Amino acid sequence: MGESTGVLVIGGGPAGLAAAIAARMKSFTVTVADGAKPPIDKACGEGLMPGTVAALRQLGVGIRPHDGRVFRAVRFVDAATSVEASFSGASGFGVRRTVLHQRMIDRAQECGVRLLWNTPVTGLRTDGVVLGNAIFKAKWIIGADGIHSRVRRWIGLDRSTRRETRFAQRQHFRGKVWTDCMEVHWGRRAQVYVTPLGNDETCVALISRDPRMRLQDQDAWKEFPRLAGHLHYAEPSTLERGAVTVTRRLNQVYRGNIALIGDASGSVDAITGEGLCLSFQQAIALADALGSGNLERYQRAHCQLARRPNTMSRLLLLLDRYPSLRARTLRCLACEPGLFSRLLAVHLGESSPEFLAATSLRLGWQFLTA
Ligand SMILES: Cc1cc2nc3c(=O)[nH]c(=O)nc-3n(C[C@H](O)[C@H](O)[C@H](O)COP(=O)(O)OP(=O)(O)OC[C@H]3O[C@@H](n4cnc5c(N)ncnc54)[C@H](O)[C@@H]3O)c2cc1C
Repeated sequence: MGESTGVLVIGGGPAGLAAAIAARMKSFTVTVADGAKPPIDKACGEGLMPGTVAALRQLGVGIRPHDGRVFRAVRFVDAATSVEASFSGASGFGVRRTVLHQRMIDRAQECGVRLLWNTPVTGLRTDGVVLGNAIFKAKWIIGADGIHSRVRRWIGLDRSTRRETRFAQRQHFRGKVWTDCMEVHWGRRAQVYVTPLGNDETCVALISRDPRMRLQDQDAWKEFPRLAGHLHYAEPSTLERGAVTVTRRLNQVYRGNIALIGDASGSVDAITGEGLCLSFQQAIALADALGSGNLERYQRAHCQLARRPNTMSRLLLLLDRYPSLRARTLRCLACEPGLFSRLLAVHLGESSPEFLAATSLRLGWQFLTA
């Protein structure tokens, strides 16, 4: 092939396309190579948090109202309690993964990114990547090849500080949508994450430490009686699709002229709903670093961006692991719903350290008195 580009992105999922768009907006010539062909689907909760919508807007990706459905709050539900927190500013948006992918492709093409589908990268060199039998030369290489990243392994950055794996299944259901919230239903062995995608379609994702749990499994539904009631008359509109979700922090996210982004660069548990937001914010930070020719800047920004979602991911995984802590927490939040709104604001990064300290104190007090 013997071709060359300023930036070569390995992987054309959401993180890779965001990185490509952001780099192109800094005037780099950009090529994306992906082994698959659109529409690329993936098991996902399909919820865009307000920050995710804002980051997409910053990248110029247009999501249209009829692409999905607005949700105004997050609701936690267990057998005994249901409590919700509204977003204080902009709303979230539920959108099918394939629709999001298409909108990102549209934007990448509009800015002049070259897209190579059905084109797996099979090797790496400092001056480029191996595509088929040829070397495609690039000044900068971005590894956006997802949770099982080969680029990460090729450049020896697989060492991570912590790692926790859970198993997920996603399916869509057609039937009247009952909620304008993103709902997290807490069961004994799993959570089910529900996102409204329109008036008559809902995305349902089950996440568990048990790899055998399935949405098809009637036993699993016994843990979620309220949700089972809502979905009683709904029909599955897609097949179940599986994935793993990994909590992983890397010590380093670049080596030489090669940087990692999105799930390849470390990830938070899917229950946070923050994976896409992180990827898009990383893309913007990476393009800035490429612009200044200094990937150390990206390393610092990456650490900073991951801090809050990592903390929230750890807290949510504690609720998953300890049922009595979970029941008590939900009771506390139900007693003082304002506190849940404050925690959601912290989760979305809307708050100052003082706000965080005051919220922690209120949560502590509720725990002692509930
Ligand atoms: C069950 C579940 C629910 C989730 N729910 C949400 C949610 O509601 N909201 C949210 O914000 N986030 C959610 N996430 C997280 C989100 O899905 C991920 O963070 C996001 O998909 C990361 O995108 P990515 O581009 O890094 O990886 P991917 O989407 O995995 O893309 C990687 C791409 O790289 C390509 N590739 C791999 N190897 C090569 C190669 N050698 N050569 C060329 N191409 C290659 C693949 O074909 C693929 O297209 C969820 C995750 C899970 C598992």
